[in-house]
Formats: sequence, C-alpha cells, structure tokens
Amino acid sequence: MIDKIKELEKISRVLDANFQERGYLLNEITDYSQDYLEKINNTSAFSFDIDKNDAISDFSINDSGEDIKAILKSLDRHVNFSGANTLSSKYFGYIPTGSIFHSALGDYHAAIINRYTGLYYTAPGPALLENTLIRWISNILGYPDNSLGNLSSGGSISTLTALVTARDAHNIEGDEINKAVVYLTSQTHHCLKKVLHIVGLDNCIVREIDIDDNYRMNANKLEEAVISDKKHGLNPWLIVGTAGTTNTGSVDPLYNLSQIANQYGLWYHIDGAYGAFYLLSDEVKDRFSGIEKSHSIIVDPHKSLFIPFGSGVTLIREGKKLHDSFSAHADYIENIMEKTEEMSPADLSPELTRHFRGLRMWLPLKLFGISVFKAALTEKILLARYFYEKMMEIKRIELGPYPDLSIVTYRWIPEKGNPDDFNKLLLKKIQHEGKIFISSTKLNGKYVLRLAVGSFKTHKEDIDVAINVIRGSAEEIEAG
Ligand SMILES: *Cc1c(COP(=O)(O)O)cnc(C)c1O
Repeated sequence: MIDKIKELEKISRVLDANFQERGYLLNEITDYSQDYLEKINNTSAFSFDIDKNDAISDFSINDSGEDIKAILKSLDRHVNFSGANTLSSKYFGYIPTGSIFHSALGDYHAAIINRYTGLYYTAPGPALLENTLIRWISNILGYPDNSLGNLSSGGSISTLTALVTARDAHNIEGDEINKAVVYLTSQTHHCLKKVLHIVGLDNCIVREIDIDDNYRMNANKLEEAVISDKKHGLNPWLIVGTAGTTNTGSVDPLYNLSQIANQYGLWYHIDGAYGAFYLLSDEVKDRFSGIEKSHSIIVDPHKSLFIPFGSGVTLIREGKKLHDSFSAHADYIENIMEKTEEMSPADLSPELTRHFRGLRMWLPLKLFGISVFKAALTEKILLARYFYEKMMEIKRIELGPYPDLSIVTYRWIPEKGNPDDFNKLLLKKIQHEGKIFISSTKLNGKYVLRLAVGSFKTHKEDIDVAINVIRGSAEEIEAG
C-alpha cells in the first residue's frame, strides 16, 4: 500500500504548482488576456459563428492533460469572441455590463486565498469585508443599521432570497397562498414570476397594475386594487416596485408605493437590479426618494457597477427577518468562538459554501473611491439623454419616453409598410453587421428598438457611431 500511495503522490503532486510553474502559467495567461483586452473593443459587437462539432471536440476532457498554449488557442477559436461582445463600447443591448479589469484581479486573488467565506467563524476577515461592503450599500440606499443583506450571484437569486423572506414574514403558506395578492406591472422583470413559481407561490393572485405614459406604475390604481382586494377578503401581500425597468429604465413612483404599502400593511419589495446604483448620481437621485422605505431591495453590481457577471445584492430592511428565513444549524458546523455580533453569509442566504465574491466588488471601489463611479454613472445618464435629443432630430424616428435613467426606446417609421416588420429587419441588419449591438422589446404591443447605455467603456463617440449606424441602416433598407 505504501508503494501505491507513493506512486499516486507522484502523480497528484502536479496539482500543486511550484514557484516556476506558477510563473510560467501566469505569464502565459496575463500575456494572453492583455492581448485580448487590446483587441476586443475593436472587434465586432456581435458574432454568431460557432462550429459546434469542432468546439465540442476541443472542449472534451481527456485522460491526459494538454498544453496551456493549445488550450488558450481553443478558447480563442470558440469562446472569447462568441456572441454578444459585452466588452465592446458599442454594446447597447439588454442591460450592458462591461466588467472592469480590477474586478478580475479581485476574483483571481479570491480564488487564490479560497477562504471559507460562508461562515464568519472560518473566515472572519473576508466575512467582515463583505459585511462592511453590504453596510455601505445599505447606507447609500438609506436603509437603517439593523438591515442585513447578502452578496448573491445576481438579480434572480437576490429576488428569490427577498421573496422567501417576504413570504415567511407574512406567513404566506397553506390556505393563505390562494388569498395572497402580489402587485406588479407589465414592466416588472420576468424573474418575479419565476421566483413565485420556485418558492411554491404559483397560486398567489398576481395583479398587473396599470402604468402611465412613462411606463411607471400608477399608484392610484394600485391603491384602488389593494382596497378592492381587502374588501373581497383577499390578503394584499406584496408590492413590487421597480427602480429602473429592463424595458425602458423607468423608475416607479417609489415614495407613493411606500405610502400604500405602509398604510395597508404590505411587504414592499424594490427591484433595483439594473437601476438602484444610479441613485449615486445627483442627476437622478431624486427619482429614488422612498426607496429607503421598502422592506427589501435587490441591486446588481454586475449591471450598474461594471463588475463581472455573478454579482448581485439582496438587502432586507429589518435584517432579523432575513436571518429568520435562512439561518440553519448542523452538528458538523460548530462555532467554538464566543457568539459574535457579525453575521455569517450562510445564515442570510440559500448558499453555504460560496465564492468570495465580495473581493471583485470591493477592490475596484477601494482603488478608485466612489467619486469615479458617480461620474461614470452620471456620464451614462447624460449619454442616454444626448442620444435621445439627437434622435429627436431625425424625422423618421419615433421615440419612447424621455429616459428616467440610461435606456432609450425608439423605432423608425418607414415611408410605407408595417413599422414592426421594418424595425425587425433593421435590428437584424444592425446585429448582423455587428458594428453596434442593440436589442428590441415590445411596448403596448408595438415592436421597438432599445439603446441601453451602461458599459464603462461607452463614451460620446460611441453614441455618435450608434446614431449613424441606426440612421444609415434604416436609410439603406428604405432605399431597397
Ligand atoms: C437583470 C434584471 C433582473 C435579473 O437579474 P439577473 O442578474 O439577470 O438574474 C431583475 N430585474 C431587473 C429590473 C433586471 O434588469
């Protein structure tokens, strides 16, 4: 047996890279990513070429290992340039992101140290770093000191965490489920309904409240619905306000919704996945008034803080409720320390073992300070307004509402023919050419195009290119 162990040791030791091996691999990968970052902004904003068979063959795992250079080459062929180029300054689709370099360094280091960050006891420093970051976010959103939160992988999981807390806080279970009413709008993100399904609340009553011309919830209609539901013996449970809708970037009347929630005793959840960090910008700060009166908020640093995908935040105003819903005990996790004031991430989320995701967020904030992020967010808002005003000068363009935040909707009204068909064709042409990437949506049954500004790389020159591409492509289609 000893011989066998020795033999296996010899093989398994390659997993433990030594100083020289680490140096070699680091050089390979840093040269490679430097080269990538130099060229990625000038490559197509979208490309959908994939040789599936070739890729699957390159991706398959074999008994023996391969050389790093060959592996990186296969990433170049199948991965690095695949689909929408979210690193392009001309990426305006869905909700843009970006991903600042400094975050990648945080991730690298987080994986290097690989502390067990689920529990305060096993990683007090990392847990405290994350808790401090969460407190900072709570503060900017106006939540009190007894609020608690969690760093999640994104908006959908944050919504899940918030809604489980809301469900438990209002005892929505058993026969109560059929009587519980959720209020949202046609503009609410689809993850809300998905989460209701996941948490066993499919049988809740979901009311879509009317919206105004700016796609914001009509607070009067909400109040009417709540009163009527109460009268009919139902249980108005949850108001979902959105601070920055995905379609148009609209911010619901957050303060008015908070008053209704308060008066009638509902849980008030705010979906700020895309928009809530825009509160850092003085240009739009006032729109968010009332956000601090909600019971839960979600916000995605992987959208408006330019952090890589996999970064969300859940905040619960009355932190104890989050803890009540998610804390759990097991014999094999013993805390030999005295009870501490600090919370463990595992007691505030569905996860136990987890990525130390705080570092990717914290490092850039620490390096630059908040002022740089404030400036970048304000720039994005002004760029959206600039785009809107420039598009107003184009005769054939029909615009949606003036942007609350950084999303503009518009469509080209062709000389003749169906506008929906025309704009579908226009989008297809623009995406196919790949100079810019935009996306589409439906508003009041009409097909419209969207331009969402949000990459840290996007500046005025990129907006000018977008305007020229949109106008030029439409004119080419018109010309036949
Ligand atoms: C993106 C988005 C979500 C979902 O967040 P993910 O991080 O994609 O899971 C929820 N709500 C709004 C308003 C969004 O824009």
